[in-house]
Amino acid sequence: MSHDPNCIFCRIAQGSIPSRKVYEDEELLAFHDIHPWAPVHFLLIPKDHIASLAQVQPSHAPLLGRMMSLVPTLAQQEGCRPYPEGGFRLVCNTGAHGGQEVAHLHFHVIGGPRPWLKG
Ligand code: 5GP
Ligand code: ZN
Repeated sequence: MSHDPNCIFCRIAQGSIPSRKVYEDEELLAFHDIHPWAPVHFLLIPKDHIASLAQVQPSHAPLLGRMMSLVPTLAQQEGCRPYPEGGFRLVCNTGAHGGQEVAHLHFHVIGGPRPWLKG
């Protein structure tokens, strides 16, 4: 597993920067976004430093599958109402034109009653 000492999300994953944890296992961490756009807004990251979705390789498929399949459970645990009247938004900003600010792969999981700050 690779870590970049200059990467803020690697430092959060290793515990050297504190975060409000939502979920953790050997490979993954979920934590509340510091500037939430909505009543529910957390980030799900791999602990391995992958810069963005653009760097994902076929060998990462099981990891990405685990991330994706965890989202609905975590969203509901964090207060999103069930599908279809509730639900959530899943966002993965990739690269400058994608609006990515932190260069460590992350899924934004956003939900809760509207209106939201963005969207
Ligand atoms: P991006 O624009 O890269 O998709 O989103 C990065 C997200 O990370 C932003 O929503 C921002 O609020 C969040 N963020 C940046 N730094 C920190 C931090 O130190 N702690 C937490 N919890 N979130 C952060
Ligand atoms: Zn990183």
